[in-house]
Amino acid sequence: MGNIIYNKKLTDEYYLIKIQQKNDAKMGQFCMLRAWDNDPLLSRPLSIYDRDASSLTFLYKVIGKGTEIMSKLKEGDDIICQGPYGSSFPEVKGKIAMIGGGVGIAPLYYAAKEVSKESETEIDMFFSLRGVEILREELTEVSDHLTLKTNERVVSLVDYDQYDYIFTCGPDSLMQDVYKNAKGKKATVYASLERRMACGMGICYVCTCKTEDGNKLTCKDGPVFLASEVFKDE
Ligand SMILES: Cc1cc2nc3c(=O)[nH]c(=O)nc-3n(C[C@H](O)[C@H](O)[C@H](O)COP(=O)(O)OP(=O)(O)OC[C@H]3O[C@@H](n4cnc5c(N)ncnc54)[C@H](O)[C@@H]3O)c2cc1C
Repeated sequence: MGNIIYNKKLTDEYYLIKIQQKNDAKMGQFCMLRAWDNDPLLSRPLSIYDRDASSLTFLYKVIGKGTEIMSKLKEGDDIICQGPYGSSFPEVKGKIAMIGGGVGIAPLYYAAKEVSKESETEIDMFFSLRGVEILREELTEVSDHLTLKTNERVVSLVDYDQYDYIFTCGPDSLMQDVYKNAKGKKATVYASLERRMACGMGICYVCTCKTEDGNKLTCKDGPVFLASEVFKDE
């Protein structure tokens, strides 16, 4: 009997996979997953969408060979999961906006779930998805206000003056816009970067990113960075 508890199809593209694994993961961290021998060569990084002490859940979108293989897995099959790796979102209080796109929902859902346990916290979520909507109920549960749009950008719907903190994850263009719009306001902005990765643990340097302090590794120094470290003032 393998470690997959379920591998649930949400839409033609999106899946939620839950696996049995003891862990002490923190919000924003990711794991390297593989359910194949040699092809593709590398494991695939996925952000932690949810967890408890004995399980990890990932939200993934089928993109290519690796995620296609994952989408065929069933309850009781085996998957190798290394990690958790990387930096995490900070534990914060106050008024927080979480702004994301696509599978950027994954680390932000988990962050909202954690941060919302704090009574002095208010969370507004802004997400955009291409095509079909997913997870409205789940996102509603962990936020005070949810703006979930399909085929529409959400970055311009945010009142950036309101927030103490902003967490963002999604395409670089979205996060760059979030950083630009929040510039000069009181909010501290944290961004979770997505880069092609090979080892996931700081050995291969494939995921090097430029920061204001020189080159850093997205897998080890990130994926969560202060947005001011990794995005430019334009
Ligand atoms: C830290 C981190 C966290 C991530 N979290 C998630 C998550 O929670 N859910 C999720 O669905 N995906 C996540 N990703 C992206 C995921 O790792 C890739 O979609 C996956 O590796 C694709 O593997 P594949 O074999 O299916 O596709 P491949 O065959 O490897 O790639 C298919 C196509 O997608 C492009 N591509 C592949 N990976 C990336 C990438 N990282 N960035 C941009 N383009 C890419 C390739 O250039 C290629 O054109 C994350 C990536 C990183 C680095």
